[in-house]
Amino acid sequence: MTYDPNNIFARILRGEIPCSKVHEDEHTLAFNDINPQAPVHILVIPKGAYVSFDDFAAKASEAEIAALVRAVAKVAGMAGVAEDGWRLLSNIGVNGHQEVPHLHIHIFGGRKLGAMIGKAG
Ligand code: 5GP
Repeated sequence: MTYDPNNIFARILRGEIPCSKVHEDEHTLAFNDINPQAPVHILVIPKGAYVSFDDFAAKASEAEIAALVRAVAKVAGMAGVAEDGWRLLSNIGVNGHQEVPHLHIHIFGGRKLGAMIGKAG
């Protein structure tokens, strides 16, 4: 899939659309999800133009990969969910129900999250 530079997260990265920023470093940005599914629901994205986890794994530098992994754990700690537990999730493509075609890692926490996966829909 070709990267769409006008996807909503690309526009957030360019500052064209506001976000509720939680964390930023050289390679990543984290912000609160606009439609939270849990008391803590944060999205962590790479600043580079990657459509999905697959694309990122294939093309990102070691520094970008390390930064994203570390940012996810750091943000979970900052959000105060590390001790009680939390979930990370990345939707990929049509079957994964990915709506925004820029890689994002969801961080959920702040309540018991229940079963790992819901029914198809
Ligand atoms: P996906 O289904 O692609 O994994 O998830 C996309 C997520 O992006 C959804 O949870 C949705 O609420 C969130 N989202 C969509 N548009 C915006 C936006 O403009 N700002 C923020 N903060 N989140 C958004």
